[in-house]
Amino acid sequence: MKHSPLPVLYIVIPCYNEEQVLPITAPLFLKKITDLAAVGKVSPDSRVLFVNDGSKDKTWSIICDLAKQDPHYLGISQSRNRGHQNAVLAGLMEAKDRCDITISIDCDGQDDINAMDAMVDAYHDGCEIVYGVRSSRQTDTFFKRFTAESFYKLLNAMGAEVVFNHADYRLMSARVLQEFANFKEVNLFLRGMVPLVGFKSTSVAYERHERIAGESHYPLSKMLGLAFDGITSLSIKPIRFITGFGVLVAVVSFLGVLWAVIEAILGSTVSGWASMTSIICFVSGVQLICLGVIGEYIGKIYMETKSRPRYIISERTWEQE
Ligand code: UDP
Ligand code: MG
Repeated sequence: MKHSPLPVLYIVIPCYNEEQVLPITAPLFLKKITDLAAVGKVSPDSRVLFVNDGSKDKTWSIICDLAKQDPHYLGISQSRNRGHQNAVLAGLMEAKDRCDITISIDCDGQDDINAMDAMVDAYHDGCEIVYGVRSSRQTDTFFKRFTAESFYKLLNAMGAEVVFNHADYRLMSARVLQEFANFKEVNLFLRGMVPLVGFKSTSVAYERHERIAGESHYPLSKMLGLAFDGITSLSIKPIRFITGFGVLVAVVSFLGVLWAVIEAILGSTVSGWASMTSIICFVSGVQLICLGVIGEYIGKIYMETKSRPRYIISERTWEQE
């Protein structure tokens, strides 16, 4: 859809219960596209596309009001809360046939929107994907910083290759999105999937700020869930570890059997209750963990075989032709 020589930019913003934040950040996004258009980097037809992820507060009505105020604001609403990853995907898929480039960003003002200039510049230099990478986490608490950085290290150690300190603030061209649409998986971990698409890419560093208002929807438990999902969606390394570990345990067990037989032949078998119990406990524990990990993969296969829709859009702020 390249009508004008300047690329049409869609900023895609997932919103879940953000009534406190949205009225503050929405004008900033609008200003960003008008500024970018003023300096001739993007088309004046660029848009700010909000994705309401089944919010329970006034978020959707705020989005509808914004869309009435200014044609640069657009909104779609998911039929229910499906989580951040699905919301971003819904927005990107909605945008891909209407624009040349998308930038996904959270709506809470934590990610520096001024990094968009450098992202768009990189696009003009021929990059199809530009990753926003946090240069520091000074504003995060020590705990958040530590857990978040461990998250990336764990993911990479487990074979899910992700860009260090990159979340979901990134530019993707429509061309990349057309290819990305063929990644049909239901278990989404966008930051691990996007690099698989390939194409020329680069990263842009930015400072991460504190949330303007409201609270994070990603406490430690959700972050651990996301890490586990990321690993099991992208890599089978844990299963390999299990195989390796299984071999190790088997070798040790075999030595143990040898030892037991020799002891028995020598006639020095004394009551070995403690050692016996520990071995049984240890091995059954290991087996349960292994079964759990394998079960996780089977669960994923189960979910994938259903191939349920990844998002359902119930409303839009515009009439569809
Ligand atoms: N979000 C969403 N659906 C959810 C949870 C969060 O669309 O179920 C959005 C939220 O509105 C925000 C972004 O995802 O724009 C990131 O969430 P948050 O700021 O709470 O996470 P954090 O930045 O603390 O990791
Ligand atoms: Mg946030």
